[in-house]
Amino acid sequence: MKIKFLGSPEVVGRAAVLVNSGGKNIIMDYGVEMTRPPKFPISFPPKDLNALILTHAHLDHIGASPYLYVSWGMPLYLTKPTLELADVLIKDFIKLSGEYLPYEYIDYTYMAQNAELVDYRKEYSVPSTDFKLEFRDAGHIPGSAQVIVTSEGKRILYTSDLNTYETRLQKPADINFEDEFDMVIIESTYGYKDHPKRANLEKSFVEKVKEVIEDKGTVLVPAFAVARSQEILLVLRSRGFDGKIVMDGMALEVTEILLRNRQYIKSPRSLKRAFGRVKKVRRWKERKKVVKESCVIIAPAGMLGGGAAVFYISKLYKNPKNGIFLVGYQAPGTPGRTLLEEGVVQVADLTGKTKAKKYYFEFSSHTDRSGLKNFLSQLSGDPIITIVHGEEEGRLGVKEIAEELGFKTYLPVTGDLYVFD
Ligand SMILES: [Zn+2]
Ligand SMILES: [Zn+2]
Repeated sequence: MKIKFLGSPEVVGRAAVLVNSGGKNIIMDYGVEMTRPPKFPISFPPKDLNALILTHAHLDHIGASPYLYVSWGMPLYLTKPTLELADVLIKDFIKLSGEYLPYEYIDYTYMAQNAELVDYRKEYSVPSTDFKLEFRDAGHIPGSAQVIVTSEGKRILYTSDLNTYETRLQKPADINFEDEFDMVIIESTYGYKDHPKRANLEKSFVEKVKEVIEDKGTVLVPAFAVARSQEILLVLRSRGFDGKIVMDGMALEVTEILLRNRQYIKSPRSLKRAFGRVKKVRRWKERKKVVKESCVIIAPAGMLGGGAAVFYISKLYKNPKNGIFLVGYQAPGTPGRTLLEEGVVQVADLTGKTKAKKYYFEFSSHTDRSGLKNFLSQLSGDPIITIVHGEEEGRLGVKEIAEELGFKTYLPVTGDLYVFD
């Protein structure tokens, strides 16, 4: 068995791992790096590919995948929510970056026609190969999966993006493995640090929101459409925030998908109840109206790179009574990072110092250093720990933990080929 790293293991983004065994090939994830133009993984001839696996609906894992279906079809393994969410994300990606993309929406629909929907903890055989696949809940976003690949007597685990902690929306990752692995390919986004305690984080978030509302201000929460928007809604309601909550854009579509995939979320009833009370905004007329009210607005995009949040911030940033609450990772070079570090709103053709209050709350859907350590310490056998999906400090952090636990480690770079003997 051979493993080739087609993506970029040295960053958070552009995930793509090729597994070759007995002359057959499968790829796990085929994502993009969200630069402008987006960066694609190393190409691979689709005709030589026996299956594609997509672990979850984030563009850094699926953004390049329709390209593999432009001229050819092969089975696509993924969960039902991943397929339904991918449709929304790919459409939006084409809208925002279509000019740079080597595929069109029709290629996505062709890809979707090849889908084999999978459940957790069941075994699947890839036709005309020796590959056996199994999926385990990754706890990261609804429908996210870790993948166990078996072939030629070797067994590897690809964690993809992992959350070992329970959230309001989801149960933690399923990390009870019965078998030993020869290799574990693990993410390392937060390998260098621990998250703040969840209960404290929620408490101070809701307190600050209430302060702004009591002062008659408007709260804007720019949030990722998938999982984070719903999580924020649940945190507010479960911690007794009773005021008006507005949700906008893609977050609405995503919530509807999640409510149709009940078994992938922890408490469909709580989400249904909370969503039922939300003011749903889809039109410009309504947007212009809600910015004048004292309420909480949850709107994508989470890093202010587009979406309705851009409109809202342009209307809200000049008033010191308002609050802008960033609730997720802000990548370097994004308007969210600029706001966080310099207090400057830089969206569309607007630049200005914010007078509104700004807050940062580290709600994360990735596990942290302690979570990764706990994960590794439960593994049996002697797998080589292959560290991907992290900046340098994250990867070195996981290397340190893994070596303390007595594992061999491997930090691949783009294009590396690992050959089992
Ligand atoms: Zn992800
Ligand atoms: Zn990722």
